Amino acid sequence: MPRTVSRVALGTRGIDLTLITIAAPAERRRVGDKGPVVVVAANVHGDECTGVGAVLRLLPLLEATLLRGAVHLYPTLNPEGLERRSRKVPEDDQDLNRLFPGDAAGSPSERLAHAVWMDVCAHNPDLVIDLHTDAPASIPYALLDRATNLRHGHRGAVEGSARTIAASSGLTVLHEYPEDRYSRYRLDRSLTGAVLNRLQVPAVTIEAGPRLYLDTAAVDTTAQAVLGMLHALGMVEAEALPHPTRMHGGPWRRDSGPRASSTGVLVPRVAPGRLLAKGDLVAEVRALSGALLEEIHAEAEGFVVSLAERTHVVAGVPVCTYALRE
Ligand SMILES: [Zn+2]
Repeated sequence: MPRTVSRVALGTRGIDLTLITIAAPAERRRVGDKGPVVVVAANVHGDECTGVGAVLRLLPLLEATLLRGAVHLYPTLNPEGLERRSRKVPEDDQDLNRLFPGDAAGSPSERLAHAVWMDVCAHNPDLVIDLHTDAPASIPYALLDRATNLRHGHRGAVEGSARTIAASSGLTVLHEYPEDRYSRYRLDRSLTGAVLNRLQVPAVTIEAGPRLYLDTAAVDTTAQAVLGMLHALGMVEAEALPHPTRMHGGPWRRDSGPRASSTGVLVPRVAPGRLLAKGDLVAEVRALSGALLEEIHAEAEGFVVSLAERTHVVAGVPVCTYALRE
């Protein structure tokens, strides 16, 4: 199986990016069938490590099973962040995933984004998958960007095919924040947001597991989700089984959960992935004495996607990420 590792020299400090390409061997391909091209990226947020493990897990699996096309895998887009356990690019403390398509003459992070973007575009992908991590107490999910910059006809087609592919991950599918916040948070300048809005190519983000170490179950879940999406493109034989946490009854979108209005110890009262009615108890805030300061209730039907990774909470802080009906 051909496997090449190429390195992309970036910026003044020459950060190297590792790219591994797995192409279906001629004996498995039908004559004349070039097949789809998929880019899988991981660790753009340097403290979100599940995708690094998932890429390592996928390499032998793809070598053994890829039937059509080619998969280009970046085990990390933020190698210094990986080393330093930093979400942002350590050199200038910028969030790389809000800078695409980058700027060849900009800050180090903008130059890194530009180099990644040019490299991704050069592969002419049919699908881009970006691997992230939410929180230790979370269900895994496939996240869909909003093609806010596209006209209606184009928008429906590319969003529709991204939705179909995401569903074949076997995971719960969530749409991004509502459009006003999607734009305000500059999510159209995330890697997947830029791919969807600028290349008009389907893109899916996978969020699974705790951030800073390789949780075996989360790595498995992520690798299986990627294989499920490749199956949707006819690139591997086996389809992904629905994940045990998969929530039906959507479409769902992610939103900030209810906010604390007091300061104290955050005590979660529900697990992620359980359907809640409006008014159901989500969490309590208690004083260190044990006194109940506040009960926090669901503001609408939906479910907790992830619990905030914190124990001390102050007024105004959301206590979870919540999924609402779209
Ligand atoms: Zn992330």
